Amino acid sequence: MSDGGPLVGVINAGSSSLKFSIFEEDGCVLAGQVDGIGVRPGMRMKDAAGNPVPGPDLAQAPPQSPAEALLMLLPWLREWLGGRVLAGLGHRVVHGGPRYDRPERASLSLLDELETLSPLAPLHQPHNLAPIRAALEKAPHLPQVACFDTAFHHTMPEVVQAFAIPLALAEKGIRRYGFHGLSYEYIASVLPTAAPEIADGRVVVAHLGNGASLCGMRAGRSVATTMGFSALDGLPMGTRCGELDPAVVLHLLRQEGMDPAAVEDMLYRRSGMLGLSGVSSDFRDLLASSDPRARFAIDVFVHRVARGVGSLAAALGGLDGLVFTAGVGENAAPIRAAVCEACAWLGVELDPVANAAHGPRITGGASRVPAHVIPTDENRMIARHTRAVIAK
Ligand code: ADP
Repeated sequence: MSDGGPLVGVINAGSSSLKFSIFEEDGCVLAGQVDGIGVRPGMRMKDAAGNPVPGPDLAQAPPQSPAEALLMLLPWLREWLGGRVLAGLGHRVVHGGPRYDRPERASLSLLDELETLSPLAPLHQPHNLAPIRAALEKAPHLPQVACFDTAFHHTMPEVVQAFAIPLALAEKGIRRYGFHGLSYEYIASVLPTAAPEIADGRVVVAHLGNGASLCGMRAGRSVATTMGFSALDGLPMGTRCGELDPAVVLHLLRQEGMDPAAVEDMLYRRSGMLGLSGVSSDFRDLLASSDPRARFAIDVFVHRVARGVGSLAAALGGLDGLVFTAGVGENAAPIRAAVCEACAWLGVELDPVANAAHGPRITGGASRVPAHVIPTDENRMIARHTRAVIAK
């Protein structure tokens, strides 16, 4: 490691895992994760060259929560950094609610406020916040920054944010927020160099990973997105259903006798590609499978992505560019090809050779709407935000 600019840590905490990375300037020098927390915790870590790094010994006192894992990691990091100090920690926080349209320096009062948003994102928000609180209490001098997945979508017009339900519910915060904002913000930040011809135009970015959504941007600002009140809405995903007639939920509760926890489990963990195919939630498995249900799941996914692109093009008043990103968008050429073919009516003309080579531009010179493959990097976005907030 060089003796370059300030080092910042990036934390992405879930219910039983803690992903972390250390950034120096714009480069990642250490990345790893602790998973199986509460059951059988294991740690994997790699340095900038991809060499495995042995982390702290978890066996002696296995962490019982991601917050405990972070507290074990901090003293180990101090030694690993050999005298260099961590300038701050940036955290991915799923929900910034109606108020936060940019990252915020973490404090106990901010955490109290963000905890009131937990009912809006019960599967993520409490897990994102707990390690921040633990580190604030144990290491109060270490600056921490909360970076919100919703913040980028604050530029969506009010008509896009609204659900057609009684106004009193909207005043309680029931509206479209949109997610994957750190990924979209990163893409918006690199568009001027990666695809300058479309950076100021009307672009649909397809974040297609295990979680999937689309964002319509005008000049790099969010105008509309497929995810809504929660990260369950919009496109079908690995195990999440995506957009669903709300009457289906009522039917499951009333006619099928399911309780809310069972419905939640089904819609979040047993639907999407896994539910449709019965084979796997992973697109690699689906693409390799000869099971007709795997093919069908892919067809449903492509259909919904293409419909979503059309819908966002309507919200944008036209389409100047299409960008594919995240695990599926960056790697699955057959999925990109099928989506582009379904978007031919919008002026997207695929170049199959460029697509097979993963671009970066996957449409021919004559295509009215260019399509690009651009790798996303949410952690780098969080590191940039963290550096900027603590420098203030
Ligand atoms: P997450 O939402 O977990 O961050 P990623 O963006 O890493 O997800 O995407 C993970 C998904 O990307 C995997 O579930 C897999 O389906 C898909 N994927 C990764 N590599 C490939 C590949 N070479 N071909 C097809 N799909 C891929």
